[in-house]
Amino acid sequence: MKTLPKKKIIEALKDQQNIFGDYLFEEKLPEVNAKYDEIPEVIEVILEPVDETVNLFQSEEIWQNAKTLDELNRLIKDCTNCLLHKNRTNFVFGSGNPNAKVMVIGEGPGAEEDKQGLPFVGRAGQLLTDILKAIKFERDEVYIANIVKCRPPENRTPLPEEMETCIPYLKKQIALIKPKMILCLGLTAAKGLLRKKESLTALRGKFFDYEGIKVMVTFHPAALLRNPNWKRDCWEDVKKFRKMYDETVK
Ligand code: URA
Repeated sequence: MKTLPKKKIIEALKDQQNIFGDYLFEEKLPEVNAKYDEIPEVIEVILEPVDETVNLFQSEEIWQNAKTLDELNRLIKDCTNCLLHKNRTNFVFGSGNPNAKVMVIGEGPGAEEDKQGLPFVGRAGQLLTDILKAIKFERDEVYIANIVKCRPPENRTPLPEEMETCIPYLKKQIALIKPKMILCLGLTAAKGLLRKKESLTALRGKFFDYEGIKVMVTFHPAALLRNPNWKRDCWEDVKKFRKMYDETVK
C-alpha cells in the first residue's frame, strides 16, 4: 500500500517525540540565513496531559467480576464506551496463554488486527514474533494485549480519554492472568500502564513496578520498522528482560 508523505511525516514526528520527549530539535542549516536565525532552536511541543479525573468505571460493572478471560471477553466485546467502537470491524481483546508468566502490551489494533480480531498480526506483529523468538519465547507462551481494544482511525495514537476508558479492561486482564513480567511496547503502553510522562529514551530498558509485576518498556516494533537503527537498543532491552526472567521467574 502506498503511504502518503504527510502520514509518513506525522509518524516520524510521533516517533521522534516518543523517543526524545516534548522537544523538537532543529538541525542548523550550514549557511547562515537571516530569517532562519529568527527561528528558536528548541520548539516546545505541547502535549495534552492524560486527564486523571476521567473515570467512567467508578460504579461496579458486571465485567469486573469476570472469573476467566473468555468470560471477560464475552462481557466487554460489544463495548461502546468510546467513539472507537464506531469504526471497528472487531474488538481486539488479546491472545495467548491465559496462564502466561509474561505479558506483552502494545498500543492498539491496526488495520490487519481490526480485520482478524487478533493483536499484532500485521507487519509489526511479525517483527514482534521474531523479537520474542530471539529471546526464546514462543508467541503462544506469552499473552499479548493492547492499551485500547478498537482500532483508532488512520492508526493514530489513542486519545487520552480513549485510553482511560479502555485501560480498566487491560488491568482486569492482568489481574486474571497474573503475569510475573510485562513488556510494554512503545510510549503509549508505558504511559497507559505506568502513568509515566517521560520520553521513551528515559524509560526504556529499565524495570518498573506495576502491582508487584516487573515491567520493562522498549521500542514499539512499528517504530523499529520505520527506524531500524533502534533495533540494536531494543535488542539490549529484551536481552535484559530475558535475563531477569531467567533469574527471577523461570
Ligand atoms: N500495534 C499495536 O500496538 N498493537 C497491535 O495489536 C498491532 C500493532
